[in-house]
Amino acid sequence: MTRITADVRFLRGYNQARVMALGRTARTFERSTVVEATGLTPQAVSKVVARLTADGLIRPAGVRRTGIGKPAVVYELVPDSRYAIGAHVARRTLRLVLVDLAGTVHHSAVSPLPGDFTPEQLLDALAVGIDAMTSSSDVRGRLTGVGIGMIGPLDHAHGLVRDAHGLRHWHDVPLREIAEKHLGLPVHLDKDVTAGITAEAWRHGATFGDAALIMIESGIGGGFWLGGTAHRGAHTNAGEFGHTVVDLNGPRCVCGRHGCLEIVHNQAADAGDIDRAARVVAVGVVNLLQTLDLAHVVLAGADLLRNPQAYLAAVVEAVQADARRADWLTTKVALSSLGADVIAAGAAMQVLDQHYGVPELAPA
Ligand SMILES: [Zn+2]
Repeated sequence: MTRITADVRFLRGYNQARVMALGRTARTFERSTVVEATGLTPQAVSKVVARLTADGLIRPAGVRRTGIGKPAVVYELVPDSRYAIGAHVARRTLRLVLVDLAGTVHHSAVSPLPGDFTPEQLLDALAVGIDAMTSSSDVRGRLTGVGIGMIGPLDHAHGLVRDAHGLRHWHDVPLREIAEKHLGLPVHLDKDVTAGITAEAWRHGATFGDAALIMIESGIGGGFWLGGTAHRGAHTNAGEFGHTVVDLNGPRCVCGRHGCLEIVHNQAADAGDIDRAARVVAVGVVNLLQTLDLAHVVLAGADLLRNPQAYLAAVVEAVQADARRADWLTTKVALSSLGADVIAAGAAMQVLDQHYGVPELAPA
């Protein structure tokens, strides 16, 4: 009996999520458009639309007269009906953004984090930052939750930071749980790069095919969007792109191996040879394309954004010269459409997805 109720609730949520997804991608929609797009019955669509309207998530935006019969009500998403905070936790900084239900970034703020910060120091910085971002308006009451995009390795499914690279106080820290207690809000925890690729997928909508987000910020990581969803891997640890080997006889990396893309890149960048550093990343990107056949490659991260054109040019050139030998194989390479906000914005979108989006199937 309980099982049936749960399934009905899931289906109801699922149908609502499909209408919400339509509202996000189409500027306006009618009940008949929803019927067409979802295959639901007109009765089911009427119920879902009534419920979303009552919750304030969508609203009537006029009527369309069809000549004969009753005019059709036109609906639109109410962007400021719900908000989410997104946090990008890097080794030295905390970036917070406020994102509305439509995915628009309203505020963005960066604050320094203490060197080798502890979980308590991060929680305090989050609380202070979130208060500052939500105190000046009535957004606090419409806040869905907080998304955190953080350095891995971490266990997304259990909300655990395993051993954040370069941070000594972060071994098996149940960040999701302690942040929910500290902040009094639902928290979603994911790897920074996975949050980032989610933001790109939101912005591109249905046209976004298999994709990777390459982030250069202290280290080098990759976030993946495969088959229409974020790809996290068997242990939610996909994305350690910087620790793939590009030089068998290369320098020793922090991970203990030799010639990882990250250490080879960093040595070139530290020596001021940005062109060589960019070419190293380009080689890695070509390796990814050969392995995964991606439609989009997005470049992001504070270190990359200091020399965006050098990286973009090197990757575009390598993709054209080395990866694609047939004209039916095309890959779009671009800088992140959200600049430095991409990770934090994606983390916020993940929270909105969790509450108002199409539910992901069982977590990995
Ligand atoms: Zn390595």
